[in-house]
Amino acid sequence: MAKHAFQAEMGELLKLMTHSLYSNKEIFLRELISNASDAIDKFRFLHLTDERFKEEAWQGKINIKIDEADNSLTVSDNGIGMNEQDLIDNLGTVARSGTKAFLQQLSGDAKKDANLIGQFGVGFYSVFMVAERVDVITKKAGEEQAYKFSTEGTGEYEIKPVIKEAHGTVIYIKLKEDAKEFLDAWRIKEIVRKYSNHIAYEIMLHYTTTEYEGEGDECKEKKVNKSEQINEATALWTLPKSELKEEDYVEFYQSLAHDSEPPLAYIHNKVEGTLEYTTLFYIPNTAPIDLYRADYEPGVKLYVKRVFITDDDKELLPVYLRFVRGVIDSEDLPLNVSREILQENRIMATIRQHSVKKILEMIKGLEGEKFDRFVSQYNKVMKEGAYLDFTNRETILEILRFKSTHEEQMLVSLQEYLSRNDSEKKEIYYLIGDDASQMRHSPLIEAYKKAGIEVLLCDDKEIDAVVMPSLGEYKSWRFVDVSTVEPPSQMSEEERQASSEALKPLLERLKEKLGDAVKEVRISSRLADSPSCVVKDTSDPMAGMEALMRQMGQEAPKVPLILEINPTHPLIERLKESKEDALLDEAAHLLFESAKLAEGMEIEDKAGFAKRIMQMMQKAI
Ligand code: ADP
Repeated sequence: MAKHAFQAEMGELLKLMTHSLYSNKEIFLRELISNASDAIDKFRFLHLTDERFKEEAWQGKINIKIDEADNSLTVSDNGIGMNEQDLIDNLGTVARSGTKAFLQQLSGDAKKDANLIGQFGVGFYSVFMVAERVDVITKKAGEEQAYKFSTEGTGEYEIKPVIKEAHGTVIYIKLKEDAKEFLDAWRIKEIVRKYSNHIAYEIMLHYTTTEYEGEGDECKEKKVNKSEQINEATALWTLPKSELKEEDYVEFYQSLAHDSEPPLAYIHNKVEGTLEYTTLFYIPNTAPIDLYRADYEPGVKLYVKRVFITDDDKELLPVYLRFVRGVIDSEDLPLNVSREILQENRIMATIRQHSVKKILEMIKGLEGEKFDRFVSQYNKVMKEGAYLDFTNRETILEILRFKSTHEEQMLVSLQEYLSRNDSEKKEIYYLIGDDASQMRHSPLIEAYKKAGIEVLLCDDKEIDAVVMPSLGEYKSWRFVDVSTVEPPSQMSEEERQASSEALKPLLERLKEKLGDAVKEVRISSRLADSPSCVVKDTSDPMAGMEALMRQMGQEAPKVPLILEINPTHPLIERLKESKEDALLDEAAHLLFESAKLAEGMEIEDKAGFAKRIMQMMQKAI
């Protein structure tokens, strides 16, 4: 007999399960049934494709047994089962790095936290909301030895070899004192109907009831054993839409996605023709917690003729739709389709294209609060789509929302932008930065504000810096980064020439003071209130690459900036007259550093900056 200690994090998780998540205890059954169904899915595939199992008379089934006298509940399946290593890896370890993130995400709000459980693949442990002790007796298909894994949900578990005839898993749950409600057959039926009605396999309930025979004094109590099927046992997506109600879709979603919230939206499609397939897709109301993790778990299951093939293929949908949950069931793919074949398969490619179209249509069709909710959860990830999915770019751009100088609070669509702005020029202006409230005061957009031209404020800097320059056009309006072009000018060309001439000596002296820190110092026509601003040199081929390389985690070479100064600003006019060299040196640095700060950039010599400010203040006072 081997005793094992759970990893430290697991201890924390268990404590949480047993003490904090009281509000929705019943979901433990949904989690166990969903695991059983997955295990049967896996064996079903072997049964159909593997010579070793083809002969076995087998039908996938889940049994739930209530033993009132023993105060226990048993959930068993005839699925794939687990061997000793599987038990250690799957039930004894924080298998997925996600669990750590799960623990960090806990809010203390029991309802929200319960919702997180399933998303992190910690479903099995929800059993400790109701269990005093759990035994998992399991035998892996094709192997000789069976094992029993036992734990009381404290720091330790124990694994020992046992005898079990058939492959599959039995989960024996010794119920806690306050979990006796789960000994009631009605209660179990109610829970199964609520969460697991459309699990594709039969769920049988076995229990004992008391019946009475005879009349009056003759009346005798009799214990009767009952067994009955308590779910529909039809894969929901195979049913015609007309037979399905909203609740059916919601119930199926909740067990598929381990989510206690109803989905934001869903779309069910049956395609018949040269290719036959069914798709059912859902958008979770709350974005999956691992949305921005490289090791996110994909949410779409692939079936072939209702036989489960895979649930961890990230190619079934494009990466940017990784938040979608659902099922694809194809009539045409071969059962023994491998991951490699899937990637190059024409049938799969067609299904995928069609699926993406359907999902985007569903999103576009969302209205009012639902659409706003979508934007709040998924706008950023949809930007990846605008960058990656060229075929559907226009639709994605219609879905995206932006912060804008036109609106303080609300987000705007590109369509709204087009309807409000200069349709002669057909240009969509945007500024990229970190913080929209700061960007609203950026010197780079002063001239636009003055001229009444709307600028989109893209404040997901890392992703916007890659996505926005790649967009090109929307409805033949060109996207223009305001930091890379001449703004609407307040000056005529002659005025500009003249002021440039007059300021030439100052520009040269400023450049001399700043040295290689800047590529050039020049007159700006984009400024109204600020004395200076910095812009990138668009003629430098590295300017565009810089952001892209950073995004990919590569060291990017520094592209020198251009300092622009406002010829009409009083500060500049005074500086032009100044003969004091030390003052000019300080001023040059301050003009450059404060312009960088205004764009939310880092300044290298922070101590120097602070010192210069102090000196300037002393002089002023
Ligand atoms: P999840 O189901 O989200 O992966 P769980 O904690 O519920 O997370 O289960 C962890 C793993 O344990 C499963 O992924 C599966 O590999 C294994 N497992 C759980 N229940 C069973 C079962 N009844 N039969 C076979 N394997 C199981």
